[in-house]
Parts: sequence; C-alpha cells; structure tokens
Amino acid sequence: MSEPALPDAAATPVYRGLLDIVAAVEPRIAAATRQELADQRASLKLIASENYASLPVLLAMGTWLSDKYAEGTIGRRFYAGCRNIDTVEAIAAEHAAALFGADHAYVQPHSGIDANLVAYWAILSHRVESPALRRLGAKTVNDLDPADWEELRREFNRQRVMGMALDAGGHLTHGFRHNISGKLFEQQSYSTDPTTGLLDYAALRAAAREFKPLIIVAGYSAYPRRLDFAKFREIADEVGATLFVDMAHFAGLVAGKVFSGAEDPIPHAHIVASTTHKSLRGPRGGFLLADKEYADAVDKGCPLVLGGPLGHVMAAKAVAFAEARQTSFQDYARATAANAQTLADGLLRRGVPLVTGGTDNHLVLLDVSGFGLTGRQAEAALLDAGIVANRNSIPRDPNGAWYTSGIRLGSPALTSRGFGQAEFEETAELIAQVLRHTTPTAAPGGQTSKAAYELPDAVAAAVRARAAELLDGHPLYPGLEL
Ligand SMILES: *Cc1c(COP(=O)(O)O)cnc(C)c1O
Repeated sequence: MSEPALPDAAATPVYRGLLDIVAAVEPRIAAATRQELADQRASLKLIASENYASLPVLLAMGTWLSDKYAEGTIGRRFYAGCRNIDTVEAIAAEHAAALFGADHAYVQPHSGIDANLVAYWAILSHRVESPALRRLGAKTVNDLDPADWEELRREFNRQRVMGMALDAGGHLTHGFRHNISGKLFEQQSYSTDPTTGLLDYAALRAAAREFKPLIIVAGYSAYPRRLDFAKFREIADEVGATLFVDMAHFAGLVAGKVFSGAEDPIPHAHIVASTTHKSLRGPRGGFLLADKEYADAVDKGCPLVLGGPLGHVMAAKAVAFAEARQTSFQDYARATAANAQTLADGLLRRGVPLVTGGTDNHLVLLDVSGFGLTGRQAEAALLDAGIVANRNSIPRDPNGAWYTSGIRLGSPALTSRGFGQAEFEETAELIAQVLRHTTPTAAPGGQTSKAAYELPDAVAAAVRARAAELLDGHPLYPGLEL
C-alpha cells in the first residue's frame, strides 16, 4: 500500500478539462490556478505549516457536495435532504476516529482556528453552562430568566486558560489578545527555560496550581520539540483543568505513529483539535477528537460557532484520513521527522544556532541574530535565493513579533515531494550560504533598518540554480501536465 492506485498523470485530462471550463467564465482564475502549480513546483518550500495534498484529496473538493446546506450533525440536520452529506461526514469521522484511536471525531470545522473555538465552547458548555443549568433547574438557556442569563454570560468571561507563550512557540488562539480566546478568557502563559529553551514542566505545574485555570492548552506552531502529554494531564488533573491539545502542526506525526506513548495526545487529552492541511497532508480544514465525556459537546459546534459544514471538504478529509491509515503514511511521518533532524544537524555543523539546540519533530527554529540579521531580512534574502520559509519570533525576541530574530523551517512539504537525507543536507548548505552572504544595509536616508539587506546576485543565482536541480529531481505531481 505505498504507491497511489492511479498515477498523478491520470489527472492530466481531468485538470485540463476543469481549467477550460473555468476559463470559459473567468480566464484569470484559470490562469492563476495554473500559475500556482508552476510556482509550487518551482519553490523550495520549507514553510512548516504547509504541505502538498494528493490529487485524490484535491479532486474530492471540486464537486456539488458544496451545494448542500447541512447545519447540525449526522442524522440531526436543520435541513432536509442531507443523506449524502450524512454519509460523507460519517465516513470522514469514522476514518478520523480509527486513525487516531479516539472515542469520537467531529470533522466539520473549516479551519484550525474554528476547531479551537469549538473546543473552547465545548468545554464552557460542559463545565460552566451545564452545571449552571442544573443548579438553576433549567433544561436549556431559554428557560433562564434574564438576570440568571446575564450572570451566566459573565461567568463565561471569568474563566481562565493557560497556554504556551507566543514567543515560545504557542499559537494566538491559546488565549492571546489579538484572538477572541484572549478577549473571552483570562489568560496566563507558560514558557520555556531560558537556558535550555525546553518547556519547563515544573514551572508550568507551579503556575497552574496558583492560577487554577479551567483549561490548559498544550500545542504549538513553532516549538521544535515533542511534548509529554502524560505530564500535561497529570498537571491538569491536579488543578481540575480540562486538557485541550491543539495538534494542528504535528497531527501527521501522531497519525504516522512517530509520537506514541506519552507523546501521543489522544489517550491523555480530553479534547484534541487539529488542522488537516499541515503535516497531515489533507485539504485545508480542521477537526476535533474528544473522549466520551466531551463527545456530545463538540458535536454542537455547528451552529454554535461554525457556519454550515462544507460537504466537499469533508469528502476530501475522508480521503486524506483514509490515506493516512495506510502504512505508507507511517513511512512518510518517519521520513518527515528524520529529514527535520538532518536539516537541523546540517545547519548546526555549519554554525547556524538553533533554538533548543535541535529538533525532534518536523520543524527547526533558526536564530539568525548571530549573522547580524533580523528574521525579516533573512526571510527576504532566502526568498531571493528561491527558498520559501517564514520569519518567526524566538523566545524573548529583542526584535519583536514583526521583524523577529528567527526563521522557522519545516520538513513536511519537501518530504512529500520525495526529498530524503541527501537533499535536506544540501538544503542546509544552501540556507547557510544565503545567511553568510546576506548583510544588513541602512534604510534610504541612512538610518539603521531591520528590513533592508543585501545579498549578492551571484550567490542568489547560484543557490536558485541548485535548488531548481534538487526540485527537478523530485517533481511535484509527476506526470501531471497542464
Ligand atoms: C495553524 C495553527 C492553527 C490555525 O489553523 P488555521 O487552519 O489556519 O485556522 C491553530 N493552532 C495551531 C497550533 C496552529 O499551528
């Protein structure tokens, strides 16, 4: 079960026809779609949150399943005629639960952020609203008199959440001010040890005892290490918190069984939320896994916080989950982790410092301050040389969240293209060359700038040429010709 049942080349007439049909209405959309494939094929994509979904996954989205309204959940819809959406959603949920060994899966969320909102409201419903209704002898919120309802609304707002600090790799949706989670909850973050860069569980435990959060969030977007979810659960139980794991970034490593035991969140968390499009390699979307206690609460996601489910995307999620249940996906997940390791070792050997000194997941966080650069300068110089990666804060970043001092790299996308140890070793060399040859320059007018830089054209051209050779050796969707 390693090769796709049909080669990608089989999709050539399908996509040609599709683009002709679209072009007959709006040729610029067909052109941009064509151009995007060319751009994806030509870039050394190291963006840690991106991947390449298979053609079966992509094709499953282009259908009339999009035309159906299906608010509610399987078998309990607010619309008539939902039997095929019921089938699609049930198959996707069945695959997700089996893939991750979860009691329950909810596959409607349109994105990772939407999945997190469903998780927060499931926890608030289960732990705040339901007990209040019982206490007041009401069956639903409609039975509450206006004063009790106002008090309940204020009670939602008094709840507390603890998540990983943003500059330690946490996500905006874990209680920060620029996201509704920070406006809804009182928030306190936990962080990493300043000397090792590793998550400090003892400090987390002490802070949780003091702060007594309703919810502890475990998960990250830019922390290059594995988490110990057994320890997280122990701490959550100790303080009476619900453990919510946001595995948006590393779901593929869980699905592929690279993370097991204490590193597998499913047996330890009450609720797990995720994206489908990052290391899991599915369509752009989200989903949730819940234990028995929270299963009913997560199923209320639509219409509580979500708009109508996207039937065509749930179909693609089902295909992606089915793919991830094949043993070849475990090979992919292991290669993703091994490749990140090779990239990290290659960078370290070339004198590029890494936050935490390395990686044991799919991402690597470079500290570029030693090259005299901001993350923004390094990001732009790498792009000039054909390497796509994004700038990222490092812990206690002196350049803030806009300019930053870091570059985040991830192995999932290029591993999907078939890059192995040799190609990642060479990628490390190309990155090191760009960093060594990039110099900060003054802004026009003479002031120092955190954005201006110079990379000699000859270096950029040489790196671009070598990157193009590496990419040619591992074509994206081989045989697909538009
Ligand atoms: C990417 C990410 C999200 C958001 O996912 P979207 O699909 O962009 O909404 C949420 N949480 C974490 C930890 C992420 O890395």
